[in-house]
Amino acid sequence: MDPSRTRDAVAGPGPRLHGDGVELSVVIPAYNELENLEPLLAELRRALAATGRPHEIILVDDGSTDGSADLIAREARRDPAVRAVLLAERRGQSAALAAGLARARGDIIVTLDADLQNDPADLPRVLGALERADVVSGIRLGRHDSWLKRASSRIANAARRAVIGDSITDIGCSFKAYRRESLAGLPMFVGAHRFLPALCAFRGARLVEVPLSHRPRFHGQSKYGIGDRLWRGIYDLFGVRWLKARLIRYEIREVDP
Ligand code: UDP
Ligand code: MG
Repeated sequence: MDPSRTRDAVAGPGPRLHGDGVELSVVIPAYNELENLEPLLAELRRALAATGRPHEIILVDDGSTDGSADLIAREARRDPAVRAVLLAERRGQSAALAAGLARARGDIIVTLDADLQNDPADLPRVLGALERADVVSGIRLGRHDSWLKRASSRIANAARRAVIGDSITDIGCSFKAYRRESLAGLPMFVGAHRFLPALCAFRGARLVEVPLSHRPRFHGQSKYGIGDRLWRGIYDLFGVRWLKARLIRYEIREVDP
């Protein structure tokens, strides 16, 4: 087996290729999002063209069973700005994100969901906020999810802030942006997608939040129930608390001449 095709234990970013010129990478994990992918790409292309920056769209298929992978591969063949990363089997949102981040070549890395709940038209707002920060995390305004989902997010966000001491209002908003250096070498683990901005901030990154729009999911289904996030989330909280306490950070001082 070719080891470069197997696993990515750190968040990335990917290697810069000399002269590739990519400034902005958009990384999108997708599991069974067939009906959402084409409209998503159309909206994203419009938003990206408006930035005027050289970009790439990395679509990561998390072992979908609905034909999403074929669509992604087809888009990548006909549009050089689209890159397909196809996981051999479903490994979850964090794994798909890790696989995409590890291949991102841009100085700026943006993440969002494939289900059209995030609005690509918010991209300028996210990029604007990144001008005064290293990491931007969205806050979903007027959230279009069930009452139960919103209530459980509120509790989960409060618990996370209390246990690990981060300052993030709405970690479940996947629309985020990172300066390339902020992600370098960050550990990835199952569930890490809920902690990446916090982990960056623990290492000294400047974090800014921006209010963003949120839309209902019109096609496909949410991949999460309440139970699968709750227990796992609580377990992860203590893991990340441990990691925060144990992060190795040091500064090198100059050698006296
Ligand atoms: N996702 C994935 N693998 C999974 C679960 C989710 O790649 O095992 C993707 C999914 O396709 C979507 C994003 O992660 O692009 C967020 O998932 P979802 O919209 O179901 O979460 P929710 O909005 O309900 O919190
Ligand atoms: Mg969603």
